[in-house]
Amino acid sequence: MYKCLYCDRKTKTIHGLKKHILLSHLQYELYCPYCKENFEYYEEFKGHLMSNYDMFHRNLYYLLIKDDMKKVNKELLIKDTKEFVKNK
Ligand SMILES: [Zn+2]
Ligand SMILES: [Zn+2]
Repeated sequence: MYKCLYCDRKTKTIHGLKKHILLSHLQYELYCPYCKENFEYYEEFKGHLMSNYDMFHRNLYYLLIKDDMKKVNKELLIKDTKEFVKNK
């Protein structure tokens, strides 16, 4: 089960997770689930994910923007975003 980075929802597939994030969260509010930073435009959000080189931001970039599921580290999506704070 994959855990949503924004809420407590869990999905069975990685594609389901992606769809859920895009439709239930990013369509209404653009913010980084790791830094809690807000963005006005999708391009800004994209830029933020691209310019942060830690594995968490990279992972989100591959999942949401690049749509490159082979590069997505699924392990990171099972864990809670709290892990990110610990690793920082
Ligand atoms: Zn969610
Ligand atoms: Zn961030």
